[in-house]
Amino acid sequence: MLSFIRSEIHQLNAYQPHPGGETGEPVVLQDRLDTNESPYDLPSDLKLKLADLYQEIESNRYPDGGQLTLKQAIADYVNESAPLTESAAVTAAHLSVGNGSDELIRSILIATCLGGEGSVLVANPTFSMYGIIAQTLGIPVVSVGRSPETFEIDLAAAETAIAQTQNPPVRVVFVVHPNSPTANLLTPREIDWLRQLPPKILVVIDEAYFEFSQTTLLPELHQHPNWVILRTFSKAFRLAAHRVGYALAAPEVAIALEKVRLPYNLPSYSQTAALVALTHRSLLLSAIPEILAEREHLLQSLSNAARLQVWPSRANFIFVRPHAVESQSAEAIAEQICQTLKTQGTLIRHTGGGLRITIGTPAENRRTLERLSVILNS
Ligand SMILES: *Cc1c(COP(=O)(O)O)cnc(C)c1O
Repeated sequence: MLSFIRSEIHQLNAYQPHPGGETGEPVVLQDRLDTNESPYDLPSDLKLKLADLYQEIESNRYPDGGQLTLKQAIADYVNESAPLTESAAVTAAHLSVGNGSDELIRSILIATCLGGEGSVLVANPTFSMYGIIAQTLGIPVVSVGRSPETFEIDLAAAETAIAQTQNPPVRVVFVVHPNSPTANLLTPREIDWLRQLPPKILVVIDEAYFEFSQTTLLPELHQHPNWVILRTFSKAFRLAAHRVGYALAAPEVAIALEKVRLPYNLPSYSQTAALVALTHRSLLLSAIPEILAEREHLLQSLSNAARLQVWPSRANFIFVRPHAVESQSAEAIAEQICQTLKTQGTLIRHTGGGLRITIGTPAENRRTLERLSVILNS
């Protein structure tokens, strides 16, 4: 053991972007439907434009550490993307931009809970990075469950957990809207619960899939100085490779996040890519209706599979769960399906007690459906 490494880090398993399995690597990797990216790369004329813009980057100079141009462009997009009254409109002062929203999750935790000052509350199954990043920082994670049928958060358990967690108390509640991996929106009851949480608790509403759900709590942000909304360029905007995410919050909260971020967290070329993506947003986002139509087609086809339970989705992925049989648990069957698909070249995710399948191109979805039906009928 390296005795200079903190014990929490010893105990932590490193995050595995594509969890491996006993059945080994796929023959040929065709369909990457396990990380909820857009199936479409940037169009090649936009890539050429981006390549041209590289000429304007002074590679010997540090990036723009204030990121004001990008913040203003994000604010314009955000204001355009939701029906906002003038008092609810956001400006650069409401923004902090991160190296992916993962960095912002870490900044939030550093700014709120570090040093034994707070615990975080999550409702599982949900995005795993909240818990993983908290653990790397030695921050306790309190978990509550969800309804096994609707995936609504067990609010009574959440209330009890908040009341009973001391030393340190719950300082941050993380929710995803719509949730990953279960693809459901927050319900009116859950939103009411978030509204009445005390001002000493920060509420983080992760809207990574906003462009697909077209549902946001942004119009209420200005009424809640203890709310943060997270968004990302990694999904609908097709920029996962460039690592750009942003947080929207009251200016005082944004200032705190700006204090803890590293000064040059966002490389120049990533800032340029995000600006180009925003300038061409109508083109990039025009792929969404096809993805949503594909999602409905996939759901329709899978709901005919007797061996699967299927849930509706408001995101660019779907969540299904195999029914247990006498000899095998649902978890074991899910793992088997996942590994068999992997040997055939299709990656999906076994997580949260089921299977999360990203919506790909029509060809990818068709192949996945065919392979799944063969497995389910065998
Ligand atoms: C994909 C995803 C993100 C995006 O993270 P980045 O670091 O911006 O790539 C954030 N939150 C959730 C819930 C996600 O599924």
